[in-house]
Amino acid sequence: MIPSKFDLHTHTTASDGVLTPEQLYIQAKMAGVEVLAITDHDTIEGVKWLLECYKSEIAADGPRVIVGAEFTCLLGKQVLHIVGLGLDMQNQILQRHMEKLDNLRLERAERIALKLEKKKLPNVLELVKEKAGKAQIGRPHFAKVLCDLKIVSSEDQAFKKYLGAGKIANVAVAWPELEEVLDIIKQSGAVSVLAHPTKYNLTMSKLRRVIAEFKILGGDAMEISYPGVNREQQNILKYEIEKHELLISAGSDFHTPMNPWTKLGLYPEIPANLNTVLSSGLIADN
Ligand code: AMP
Ligand code: MN
Ligand code: MN
Ligand code: MN
Repeated sequence: MIPSKFDLHTHTTASDGVLTPEQLYIQAKMAGVEVLAITDHDTIEGVKWLLECYKSEIAADGPRVIVGAEFTCLLGKQVLHIVGLGLDMQNQILQRHMEKLDNLRLERAERIALKLEKKKLPNVLELVKEKAGKAQIGRPHFAKVLCDLKIVSSEDQAFKKYLGAGKIANVAVAWPELEEVLDIIKQSGAVSVLAHPTKYNLTMSKLRRVIAEFKILGGDAMEISYPGVNREQQNILKYEIEKHELLISAGSDFHTPMNPWTKLGLYPEIPANLNTVLSSGLIADN
């Protein structure tokens, strides 16, 4: 039986989330979540730590944990986020991929810092590295530091002014190709999910092409319920899901308890009569 309450997209301090994996797990349990996928950006270190070091603390009646990650990749020039669910943590290809991403993100951080410096801002690289600590470094760490330094009034402002699409510090990155990422997810024994399809600011016709390409390249599922998606968009996504015979996924994309519009286990209702990724044996041997 598929548990009624699952959350298949969440972040911890291993990337840009605010809660440690342990805190996230406890909060998910309190929220009544039965299956929790931890899907940090381009890393599995958080969920790995939880399963290796916190194993005995995981309550028998607590949520089952799915090893996941949100992979950053490119389809042409378009950056896409692909959630991998059920990853084999020992897989060498996956491990090599994550190491490559560590370097790519660090090198990007250096370039972002230089861009900001050219705009007469202080060089924030060391502060950003400190802010990220052991986490996979990303633009949200820059946003937090720019807030700390009172250069901007909020993280959102940091994206609007410097870090977001088309802004000075949004440097181009040679992220891995979608095809490569789908292959790595498959080779790691996991299922691939196109994350938050309506959040890429694509026209519907472009989004349709992205979904078709995702399917052609071996993609398995697509998120249909996540914060911000509306009924009309869900109806369009449902049509595409049926057309391409994709499974569906849903998650809160939880980053922080401070955000009033995301809560663990909370997302818009899933449209009826669609098969979820959990029906693909994802939790069968858990
Ligand atoms: P990165 O993977 O380093 O490019 O960072 C992407 C992350 O930045 C997303 O997953 C969001 O968590 C965060 N983000 C993107 N846009 C915004 C925004 N306008 N305000 C706050 N956070 C954002
Ligand atoms: Mn994020
Ligand atoms: Mn995302
Ligand atoms: Mn996410």
